Amino acid sequence: MSNKLIDGKVVSEKIRGEIKISVDKLKKKNSTVPGLAAVLVGEDGPSQIYVRNKRKACENVGIYSEEHKMPENTSEDELLKLIDKLNNQENINGILIQLPLPKHINETKILNSVNPDKDVDGFHPVNAGNLFEGKPSYIACTPHGIIKMLEHYELDIEGKNAVVLGRSNIVGKPAAILLLQKNATVTVCHSRTKNIEEILKNADIIVAAIGRAKYVTKSMVKKDAIVIDVGINRLETGKLVGDVDFDEVHDIASMITPVPGGVGPMTITMLLWNTLKSYENSIS
Ligand code: NAP
Repeated sequence: MSNKLIDGKVVSEKIRGEIKISVDKLKKKNSTVPGLAAVLVGEDGPSQIYVRNKRKACENVGIYSEEHKMPENTSEDELLKLIDKLNNQENINGILIQLPLPKHINETKILNSVNPDKDVDGFHPVNAGNLFEGKPSYIACTPHGIIKMLEHYELDIEGKNAVVLGRSNIVGKPAAILLLQKNATVTVCHSRTKNIEEILKNADIIVAAIGRAKYVTKSMVKKDAIVIDVGINRLETGKLVGDVDFDEVHDIASMITPVPGGVGPMTITMLLWNTLKSYENSIS
């Protein structure tokens, strides 16, 4: 295997191993374990798979998990009632609302109704605000996972030109803030950015999170850049690819994440991490 690879599975296994040890210790000491509730509304195929993977990941580290599957026509009020119940349920430390929600439900209203202390996705404005201010908080799992991977491979961030492609609240913006906190000089590009190619060409670190298959090609990447590919895109052939043309860019990058097996496993790992943290906060 290429020694340029930033292997999310390897980093995940290490962190999940540490989480399992902590959970085992807590179980012995307190006879309780952290608990995660996943809420899924509707029949979205990929969401069903994500929730199943999260449940398996919880089982593997000893975290209690429960799933709340609700039909597509669930009303906003019914969903709010469930979240209120989970907010007050003692054995639940983390609440995950699987996105996307059906169109008739106001996503912002629902995410904001989760108790910020149980917001293990880090989507609540309180946690987003804490991140903005550099205070400890529940950090959005995907960008948090990216930083953990860079740290694991001891890749320098300080003083580097980092370019984040995408400005979503769950990936692009928090990734940019975290890189800024690590003293990178950060540029955020989006669909209205002019000269993306030129901006990318100056990047020491690229984080691609736009959801466009193989958008980043070799000609856009500086030699020896570090390339983190967040994108998950399914080609007509059924193959999963990232936002980076891996085969081309691999030649020129110093380090690169594959898709699958890069950022993806880290996202679930940081969800487990946040759930453990929430449990620890609840008993301290
Ligand atoms: P999103 O909410 O759809 O946001 C996409 C962002 O990309 C927007 O800011 C958009 O700009 C920008 N964009 C779209 N097309 C562009 C283009 N041609 N040039 C420049 N910018 C462009 O997506 P997201 O939730 O952040 O997710 C991004 C990708 O990451 C998706 O493929 C998603 O499946 C994947 N993802 C992976 C994980 C994981 O665990 N691996 C987790 C989350 C997401 P505007 O703001 O101007 O519209």
